[in-house]
Amino acid sequence: MANYYNDNENLNFHLNHPLMKKCVDLKEDNYKDAAHFDFAPLDFEDTMDTYNKTLEIVGEICGDIIGPNAESVDQEGPQLKDNEVIYAKGTSQNYKSLVDAGLIGMSLPRKYKGLNFSIVPYVMAAEIVSRADAGFANIWGLQDCAETIHEFGDDAIKDEFLPRFFDGATAAMDLTEPDAGSDLQAVMLKASYNEEEDQWYLNGVKRFITNGDADISLVLARSEEGSSDGRGLSLFVYDRTEQKVVVRRIENKMGIKGSPTCELVFENAPAKLVGNRRLGLIKYVMSLMNSARLGVGAQSVGIAEAAYREALKYAKEREQFGKAIIHYPAVYEMITNMKVKTDGIRSLLYATSRLVDIYKSYGFLSEGRSLTPEERKDQKYYSRKADMFTPLLKLIASEYSNEIAYDAVQVHGGTGFMKDFPIERIYRDARITTIYEGTSQLQVVAAIRGIGNGSYLKYIQEFEAQEYNEDLNTIKSRLIKMTEKFEKIVTIVEKDKMSELWDFHARRMVEMAANIIIGYLLLDDAMRDMNYKKSADIFTQKGMAQNEEKFNYMENFDIKDLEHFQLSS
Ligand SMILES: Cc1cc2nc3c(=O)[nH]c(=O)nc-3n(C[C@H](O)[C@H](O)[C@H](O)COP(=O)(O)OP(=O)(O)OC[C@H]3O[C@@H](n4cnc5c(N)ncnc54)[C@H](O)[C@@H]3O)c2cc1C
Repeated sequence: MANYYNDNENLNFHLNHPLMKKCVDLKEDNYKDAAHFDFAPLDFEDTMDTYNKTLEIVGEICGDIIGPNAESVDQEGPQLKDNEVIYAKGTSQNYKSLVDAGLIGMSLPRKYKGLNFSIVPYVMAAEIVSRADAGFANIWGLQDCAETIHEFGDDAIKDEFLPRFFDGATAAMDLTEPDAGSDLQAVMLKASYNEEEDQWYLNGVKRFITNGDADISLVLARSEEGSSDGRGLSLFVYDRTEQKVVVRRIENKMGIKGSPTCELVFENAPAKLVGNRRLGLIKYVMSLMNSARLGVGAQSVGIAEAAYREALKYAKEREQFGKAIIHYPAVYEMITNMKVKTDGIRSLLYATSRLVDIYKSYGFLSEGRSLTPEERKDQKYYSRKADMFTPLLKLIASEYSNEIAYDAVQVHGGTGFMKDFPIERIYRDARITTIYEGTSQLQVVAAIRGIGNGSYLKYIQEFEAQEYNEDLNTIKSRLIKMTEKFEKIVTIVEKDKMSELWDFHARRMVEMAANIIIGYLLLDDAMRDMNYKKSADIFTQKGMAQNEEKFNYMENFDIKDLEHFQLSS
């Protein structure tokens, strides 16, 4: 009986981070639910115990059901019959097992039948589910939509939709259209208001919608006639029982085959407005996408963990030239890099989750009472930091999961190219993570602001000001040198900030900052547990070499060289 939580001690390590006390205290707001709900926790220890036990259940379901189903789900995939998406048999079994265990709507308040989970254990569950089956993780992870309804919907909408999640309602996030992908300001699906009926209706096409035939859909639509940008868009909730959406087709994809990606036609579909008009994209979808980016971060770490384990297992068993291939430096280097990178992105994942946790909890607290000036300041600090860490996480975790899956196939040799081993599926599944929920390029567009306004440097300096064990001094000195180079190159490139050169080098600068931040996060981990020292050491050694290379390229780059790259213009 496999348990994907208990067999990975890194998870418990991150769950027990010192900042969890603050996350939990804020989330449980003086543990006041204990007076109203039998199963609500009494204090911090009680809450952590519940998180731990629930994650054990998630780990068991993943080890016994979702993981073993992954191959058949990948082969069978979903089908479209009579305008209805029929999941593969394994997918239905997976979902039912999670619904039966009460694991849908995990982060919702108890009054909506949720578990009131803090973001950290919720994201951890997402990592575990993704390790078992990254495609299925999308179906399960779309419960994020419940969080958006909870955050921005009025009481009537919350009362109508939120309790349905616990009972197993599935969800979808309908944003993309044929002409509106990265640029969601171009969304054209029309929302019109019928005053007599006091009812909104949706008309138009959505493309690439995961779980498009879900019970509850959040739909981004143009509600303001004559508008052409993001300020004319509002968010709506559509209930599948209306039967006014045609699923035109299910896409035939490279990977995550268990998760249906649909093209949808809305035909006078009645829908309800979430929150206020005009804030659909600029406020609500931005928040929804940030949660979804955290979700893709978790999915990427889950994929990385799965790929690393498959490679390690294979390398220990496969013998060539008279010994197991794991004993060849070329192979053990690949495997060590997988482990180090996975440790790095996992650290970034849970650091980001804690930031989101804290600022969101302050937001919910402020609905019941006014925050003190110190609390407002604290909320602002965590919210800004979360805004900076989220694109970094989405960018680096998704890119690393691809690199790790690529190397894991390599470790398998020819066998890795065959469908006989899970790594072939894992490799295909990894590919989407750098594309949806904002491509890597769009994460750089978001993150470069933090380079320009000095935010990343500020957070790096906060790490630098911390005291570390003497044993870790070499690693810290390395990070200080990396920071000096980072500051220097930003100053050089900044001179051309108004030109395309700034955008041209953006990714390099963002990745330099990421190498330093992840290095410090691993150093923090090593402070709590010296087992992480090796990862911190190797990560920073490699990070330093990579940063040097980027530095040299940027330092010697002449703005005139940009012309060489503009082949098509
Ligand atoms: C399997 C799958 C599932 C999906 N699920 C959902 C879902 O559930 N809901 C939903 O709404 N959408 C979903 N999507 C859509 C997904 O979010 C988009 O595909 C993605 O945002 C990219 O948009 P696009 O495909 O139109 O690419 P484009 O926007 O056309 O981008 C093409 C290329 O141009 C680059 N590019 C574009 N603009 C810029 C810029 N300003 N700067 C630098 N580079 C740029 C991109 O990085 C990319 O490399 C899904 C997509 C797939 C493939």
